[in-house]
Amino acid sequence: MGKTPRVAIIGAGVSGLRCADILGQNGAQVTIFEARDRVGGRVAQSKVGDHLVDLGPNWIHGGQDNPISVIAESTKTELEDFDENQIVFSKDGKPLDDKIAAKVSDFVWTTIGEAFEYSNTYKDSIPSGRSLFDFFKERVEKKGFNEEEKEACLESCRLWGSYVGDPVERQSLKFFCLEECIDSSNCFVSSTYQKILEFVSKAALEHADVRFKQPVVGIEAEPRENKADHQVILSTADGQKYKFDEVVVTCPLGWLKRNKSAFAPDLPPRLIRAINSISYGRLEKVYVTFPQAFWHTERADYKPPNFAMFLDPTYSNHPKDIIWNQECVSLATLGPQAHSTLLFYIHGPCASHVVSNISDLSPSSPEYYDYLNDFLHPFYSRLYGYSAASPDCKPLAFLATQWQTDPYAGNGSYSNFQVGLEQGDKDIEVLRDGAGIGEERGVWFAGEHTAPFVALGTTTGAYWSGERVAGRVCRIYGLDGIGIGTGRDDSLPSQVSIT
Ligand SMILES: Cc1cc2nc3c(=O)[nH]c(=O)nc-3n(C[C@H](O)[C@H](O)[C@H](O)COP(=O)(O)OP(=O)(O)OC[C@H]3O[C@@H](n4cnc5c(N)ncnc54)[C@H](O)[C@@H]3O)c2cc1C
Repeated sequence: MGKTPRVAIIGAGVSGLRCADILGQNGAQVTIFEARDRVGGRVAQSKVGDHLVDLGPNWIHGGQDNPISVIAESTKTELEDFDENQIVFSKDGKPLDDKIAAKVSDFVWTTIGEAFEYSNTYKDSIPSGRSLFDFFKERVEKKGFNEEEKEACLESCRLWGSYVGDPVERQSLKFFCLEECIDSSNCFVSSTYQKILEFVSKAALEHADVRFKQPVVGIEAEPRENKADHQVILSTADGQKYKFDEVVVTCPLGWLKRNKSAFAPDLPPRLIRAINSISYGRLEKVYVTFPQAFWHTERADYKPPNFAMFLDPTYSNHPKDIIWNQECVSLATLGPQAHSTLLFYIHGPCASHVVSNISDLSPSSPEYYDYLNDFLHPFYSRLYGYSAASPDCKPLAFLATQWQTDPYAGNGSYSNFQVGLEQGDKDIEVLRDGAGIGEERGVWFAGEHTAPFVALGTTTGAYWSGERVAGRVCRIYGLDGIGIGTGRDDSLPSQVSIT
């Protein structure tokens, strides 16, 4: 088109910030409308006691060719490659025998690998109602395990829920392949995502017009039809209207599900179907910090665990219709960043139950502390070294996320793929392409739900999605495309540049 485009980006999360950076580098005039008073979206930190912790992501999935790993390295962000020292507690709260625990862990991870392969190979013929849990049930029968081992295997596979934010019974086997990550290495970001976020937001904060506390409530765009004066009109919650040449929508999938009527004219039916079909998870975190990491005492016959898993507890008071398995990570093993904190990942109905009980409580209130302590005491008190009489074992503070009550996080965590899904891969392609309304109306979509398949639901995917959409806008205006990787939808950039 040969003019300098005026582009609005809705959302200053990783995707919006990366998009703004690339567009800015190529000469576009960029305005970001952000509903919150900060950048980062689902990448955010807060304190539990005196310790800074991540509320959203704290892993980097896949090291090779991953721009977030490259940024982590250049910003001297500390990463931890945990070894798999794990302790598993059986239903009655006793540690599983080491041999059984090793068998169970081997079964769970081998079966997950087999399920990826099976889903990749037979995606087109697997019935949409078949779940990952069904696959586990079939496989466990073929292993010659006794009843106790079988039960421990099936209960342990529930840990998958904390990867996707919903129970393993809800994980589609057909589209399990879409959960596969770049490569097998996962690093815990021990010094938090703070410096990564600072790096990703720097260019946008310096060169774009970033408007905080500006929730967008309306996006109107007629087809361009070669009109030279074609514009997209944005309405904000305070009743203002703004005109732009192009608009990039990075609002989370959960927001799109609830706000389809924000678009005029209506979104194309196939895009609406894709928005409705792809599901949105419910992963939350609960941090609990102690005066001392009592579980971390070294002894000749005891190696402090990095992970603990609690199978279907009979010793905890909880709603009977909700599965109550729990998992936690010890932050006492984080090298120089170590602190005496446990991080519990909760998901699905259990997470919804906990959030509904604390959403009206102030995090500094005794009621908040008591509720979360009643919830977690049955678990942390099983760990080696616990003594009810010791002050070291009395929590100093709790911090629980509540993404499900946050409309700007889409009332949940990130996209996932549930049973019943018929065309998951096609749906993602439609979300990525916005069913063509970028070229047609000037309304584009980015965000983790539009990422390359290998990075859906991750910060890496969000970053790539912002970069890709910026590339498409650049192409329309004949801009150079400086800073863009290979820009192909479903492949990794061949070169990661962070200059
Ligand atoms: C609990 C949890 C754990 C996670 N763990 C990991 C992990 O370990 N590793 C990993 O790689 N990823 C993880 N993720 C996912 C990762 O955080 C996201 O994939 C990524 O941050 C998404 O970036 P985004 O730009 O697509 O969306 P967001 O970060 O959500 O950005 C969207 C922005 O749009 C703004 N917005 C929304 N609606 C409006 C509106 N109407 N008007 C204006 N602004 C609006 C929001 O405030 C937000 O700033 C996790 C997420 C959660 C919640």
